[in-house]
Amino acid sequence: MSDPSRSPARRTGGCACGGVRFAIDGPVKQIVTCHCTACRRQTGHFLAFTAAWKDQMRLEGEETLTWRTSSPGYRRGFCSRCGSMLFFDGERDEKISIAAGALDDASGLEIQAHLFTADKGAYYEILDGAPQYAQGGDTVPMPPRDADG
Ligand SMILES: [Zn+2]
Ligand SMILES: [Zn+2]
Repeated sequence: MSDPSRSPARRTGGCACGGVRFAIDGPVKQIVTCHCTACRRQTGHFLAFTAAWKDQMRLEGEETLTWRTSSPGYRRGFCSRCGSMLFFDGERDEKISIAAGALDDASGLEIQAHLFTADKGAYYEILDGAPQYAQGGDTVPMPPRDADG
């Protein structure tokens, strides 16, 4: 299991080239992966993401941040210079999903669910013990806003 005592109080992250930087002053969600075709194509493998409360995340560098509407009401944020996929944002959501690979320090986090495994790539197996959902079904909760890490 994850060890909350190892979680940094303030998490930071960004894209591969540094054009996009962000900071989170609050807890983040445990990691969920998405094996849907769109995520696999955009990441080159599959997407692993965390999430933060929107009012606890702020952009500290956004000159190269570009948003693309992925489905009505939802958008994906990526760096227009280095191509890193960073954010998945529902306009009515209070949270924003953040690519786990963008975090500078992901200690204290672990994969707790796999989504859309019916669409996973043929070349790999999912071998950790986390629950797998053939379609959506993300049941991993957001931590309370005042939780540590
Ligand atoms: Zn970049
Ligand atoms: Zn997906």
